[in-house]
Amino acid sequence: MATFRTLDDLGEVSGKRALVRVDLNVPMQDGAVSDDTRLRATLPTVTELADKGAIVLLLAHFGRPKGAPDPALSLALVTRPYEHVLGRPVRFIGEWDEAAVATLAPGDVAILENVRFDPGEEKNDPAFARTLAGLGDLYVNDAFSAAHRAHASTEGLAHLLPAYAGRAMEAELKALAAALGDPGRPVAAVVGGAKVSTKLEVLRHLVARVDHLIIGGGMANTFLAARGVDVGKSLAEHDLAATAEAILDAAERASCTVHLPYDVVVATEFAPNPASLRTCNVHEVAADEMILDIGPAAVEALADVLKTCRTLVWNGPLGAFETPPFDAATVALARTAAALTAEGSLVSVAGGGDTVAALNHAGVAADFTFVSTAGGAFLEWMEGKPLPGVEALKTDRSQ
Ligand code: ADP
Ligand code: MG
Repeated sequence: MATFRTLDDLGEVSGKRALVRVDLNVPMQDGAVSDDTRLRATLPTVTELADKGAIVLLLAHFGRPKGAPDPALSLALVTRPYEHVLGRPVRFIGEWDEAAVATLAPGDVAILENVRFDPGEEKNDPAFARTLAGLGDLYVNDAFSAAHRAHASTEGLAHLLPAYAGRAMEAELKALAAALGDPGRPVAAVVGGAKVSTKLEVLRHLVARVDHLIIGGGMANTFLAARGVDVGKSLAEHDLAATAEAILDAAERASCTVHLPYDVVVATEFAPNPASLRTCNVHEVAADEMILDIGPAAVEALADVLKTCRTLVWNGPLGAFETPPFDAATVALARTAAALTAEGSLVSVAGGGDTVAALNHAGVAADFTFVSTAGGAFLEWMEGKPLPGVEALKTDRSQ
């Protein structure tokens, strides 16, 4: 694994100004933060630095202000909620100005204004990066979720100041390395969700790296259809038949076993507990039916596969889990993975917006080894793409 400086490598930071890139991009409803997960994720780093006497200057974006100030997207709105979560006073500083920062004392925490108010942020403009660098003595990146963007506060700044991975970033990088960097084998990947088209790169990357590729969700229908199965009215991308075939061929060349369901849960209408609900073999789907989940026999077989594996990466639900009973397969397999993780036989890493929701729904998110809430950055990592914000932190990068 590439090496990163972490907070363990900081040395004496008392009185030093630490520019800390965090993710404060929280959902708001009627002026209140409706989900403070991202705020809580920053606490280990911010508390540690403040306790060591650093002057903690938080850099973050909030929404999409398109390079100009927008009062509705000011991080001033997040300062009180953040103070509440942190449990100590937090100052808001509305400009990237040395004089304002100079009024802070060791141990103080301040949020600086939404970096996307400056057009230089998203352009990774060296001038804006220098402006930010001038406010601090060192840089800590704790926002893995923004690391797929090469912006001034996520990438440029890392080249201008001594750069460190924060605690949340460190935990994420370690978990991801354990899952696909140098994993215990065999490795299984579960890829589900609605469409093949949004996850083509993920599938292409995984077939060369995992021993078992478990395909579920709407995308399984595309693969089944490509193999000549009549999937009726199911969500399927029939125009991607050749692409699906190519992925199956690549898997075969790489000795990756692809698991498609052999039984499925179908209905003629997409509604909770529909009267037309039934379970059948994939070859028995009627013309007016749609596949909305993989079947119990398939789940049992997949549970047996997971029992032979040491590592699992999971992105995408196996069925339309928001509507009962089409959550059954996802819930059952997630519980198996959680139990194997608890026994110590499986390292389980999952990510993706709907995947996190599905694992929470199954009540097992806390039992996985690591659940990434990073969204786009997690998916790009699953695609095997280098993440600029992570690359810039590597100590062995060529300058
Ligand atoms: P993630 O956000 O975890 O990356 P996706 O966005 O790719 O996951 O996919 C999640 C969506 O896929 C869910 O809304 C779910 O209802 C849908 N889905 C899963 N299986 C099916 C299916 N068989 N038919 C229709 N939609 C499905
Ligand atoms: Mg999604």
